[in-house]
Amino acid sequence: MNEAKSRQIGVMGGTFDPIHYGHLAAAEEAKEAFNLDQVIFVPAGIPPHKDEQQVTSAHHRYLMTLLAIMGNPGFEISRVDLDRKQVTYTVDTLRDLRRLLPECELYFITGADAILEILSWKAADEVLSLAEFIAVTRPGYGLDQLAVALGPLYESFKERIHILTMPPMGISSTDIRERLAKDRSIRYLLPEIVINYIHKEGLYSK
Ligand code: ATP
Ligand code: MG
Repeated sequence: MNEAKSRQIGVMGGTFDPIHYGHLAAAEEAKEAFNLDQVIFVPAGIPPHKDEQQVTSAHHRYLMTLLAIMGNPGFEISRVDLDRKQVTYTVDTLRDLRRLLPECELYFITGADAILEILSWKAADEVLSLAEFIAVTRPGYGLDQLAVALGPLYESFKERIHILTMPPMGISSTDIRERLAKDRSIRYLLPEIVINYIHKEGLYSK
């Protein structure tokens, strides 16, 4: 461990449209397994590969994320990506957080699907040099292709990518949105306080 860096901070990036127990459990597992002092949830501004119109407004996603993490003193939220007003790339998230938290060691937490897209991320080599990576398992996505996906970067960075097995939670925001569009129940998939907010604001209905 680098002794100059006094605090270990997890960074949980995502669209959080809406946030659910898969995100919260991944962050909690990573926090415990890697002895992190805090996990910062960073809702994406405009996610790459997603049209701005297809994503719920930053305002609602920020508030849903805030409501979901409120009860956990080890969880925080940051607006760095929301306030950038550009397409969100992980390299910018990590550059900003490194600037804001110079004394901290950053651990970027991703699900198996997100890490496998790493090569399509802007400046993948810089991304990998800015943080340690915790790749959590996710049902439906294998991590056995990681070396292939990373290609030539794998050898240099494999020590910085840590695989974390978590209890499988087959929950996705896409499924929650589809359920809401069909008037199906979303109970027990995400915190009740977020469900109440979704209904109050009439989000994701047809
Ligand atoms: P969508 O279906 O809209 O893509 P999502 O459920 O994948 O939503 P994101 O906001 O895209 O949620 O994901 C943010 C991060 O959380 C990603 O790194 C993703 O891999 C991870 N993640 C999401 N759901 C799970 C889950 N059930 N188990 C483990 N990791 C997850
Ligand atoms: Mg996703």
